Amino acid sequence: MSKKRTLSRRSLLRASAAAAGGAAVLAQAGTALGQAPAVVTQRRFKAWISRGEGPGRTTLQEATLRPITGRQVLVRTEATNLCYTLVPAVLGLAAPAAPAAQAAPAPGALAAPPSRRRINDMAVIQGHGGVGVVEAVGPDVRRVQVGDRVCVSGTPHCGACYRCLRGRSDMCQFLSAIGPDDLVAIADLADGTPVYENSHIGGLAEVMVAFEEWVVPIFTTKPAAEVGMVCGCTSVAGLGATTAHGLVAIEPASSVAVVGCGPIGLSAVQGARIAGASTIIAIDPIAARRKVALDVGATHALDPNAEGDGLVDRVRSLTTWPTDRLWAGGRNPGGRRPGSGADFVIEAAGADAVTPRAERGPDSTGVFAMQQAYRMTALGGHLITTGLIRGDIVLPGNLFSFGGVTHHSGQAGGCSPMRDIPRFVELLEKNQFDARSLATAVVPLERLLEGYEQVAYRTTITGIMTAA
Ligand SMILES: [Zn+2]
Ligand SMILES: [Zn+2]
Repeated sequence: MSKKRTLSRRSLLRASAAAAGGAAVLAQAGTALGQAPAVVTQRRFKAWISRGEGPGRTTLQEATLRPITGRQVLVRTEATNLCYTLVPAVLGLAAPAAPAAQAAPAPGALAAPPSRRRINDMAVIQGHGGVGVVEAVGPDVRRVQVGDRVCVSGTPHCGACYRCLRGRSDMCQFLSAIGPDDLVAIADLADGTPVYENSHIGGLAEVMVAFEEWVVPIFTTKPAAEVGMVCGCTSVAGLGATTAHGLVAIEPASSVAVVGCGPIGLSAVQGARIAGASTIIAIDPIAARRKVALDVGATHALDPNAEGDGLVDRVRSLTTWPTDRLWAGGRNPGGRRPGSGADFVIEAAGADAVTPRAERGPDSTGVFAMQQAYRMTALGGHLITTGLIRGDIVLPGNLFSFGGVTHHSGQAGGCSPMRDIPRFVELLEKNQFDARSLATAVVPLERLLEGYEQVAYRTTITGIMTAA
């Protein structure tokens, strides 16, 4: 109670204004009904700029901010998560050779027309999200004020488009315009090169400039690395899939299998525990990840290399209730196949961006893991897939037609950012979500590449860059 009293928008605002030390900031913050015009010129900041091809494409440079206009929000970065999907973009490493290899499309850009601009020719701040403090807002911004601590979400939530209004704000239409041609320059390098941000978001810099649709106010005094973890795209996806109910609601006492225990999977394990699942089976080839899974809520941990072709049957056997007798509450589906299958399966394996320096899984494309995830789902169960894979999925046709498996896909596990991210922060506040066990490589801005290498080679669970 006393904590609530001290943690107010006003107190956060005062702290930030004092840090910024500007009368203009205070004056702007006092505008209750409309935001004053914000023009922040010539602010210099450090940013990791990615450009060109191959290793060495990302370098730390100084850039000069352009004026903040319209619905733009300037956020001083406190922390940002090092998402595995950006390993190729940041480190310039090539994916291991695989059959039918395809470049993974950017989230939300699946049906985008060809771009006139080539992303590798542009100077781009990578990252897609982070947490920080609002330093300035454009004149049209209504959602946040200067001084607010915010999450810059990996996915937008406008609240007004058709998809938002029908309950699928994870697929908000603002996602449709994040290709190379859609990006707007937010800064310039010393030689005049315009600087852009991945998906209008960025994160691997001292500041982020985002449109307000991506910005979610949060109220917490937890350390930046932990808030950055729970608000990062991976934890948001894992908690979204299991606790947001945007796709499906996990029921108490149900069985949940989580295929892949990186930061998404380990967040899903925790979400399943929070949702009240009684059997939580974590599957990952890396022993250290299986151990963390057991520490944060899994009841079983399986190694797909050790289980081999028997993995699916093993999950079915672990999810069968004490009797398979008909009329007695048995869960075995009448002898059609052994065991029951998990009521809910969260797939979070994905393809290898580079060959891991930890234990490798059975298939670097992620296709096999996704097929297994479908087959270990109970008849009548639900499958949520989140991994970026290389290749196409082949499924048993009749199981696909008559198996009763409901497949859910979406952005960020179906998370609705404005509704769900503050709830995820509350899980952190009340110690229901363990961020520290996931953020095992916390590096300052200057050591970003070191942290990203650990993420790339899977020698850590995941990484967080802190910048303030
Ligand atoms: Zn991500
Ligand atoms: Zn929308």
